[in-house]
Amino acid sequence: MIRCGYCGHEFGESEGIRGCGQCGKPGGCHMVRCPRCFYENPEEPGILKKLKGMIKGAKP
Ligand SMILES: [Zn+2]
Repeated sequence: MIRCGYCGHEFGESEGIRGCGQCGKPGGCHMVRCPRCFYENPEEPGILKKLKGMIKGAKP
């Protein structure tokens, strides 16, 4: 679940609007837009993802 940093709405990664394709970030855009307010959020709270990655090993 992603919690929108702007409006606090919680949504799944699949519900969010992904991959704007326009920002030109190398490797693709990893931001997910809130379906309610369109604020751009990081895919997952970064620190959580990092911790999970360290424990489980890198996800593809
Ligand atoms: Zn929002």
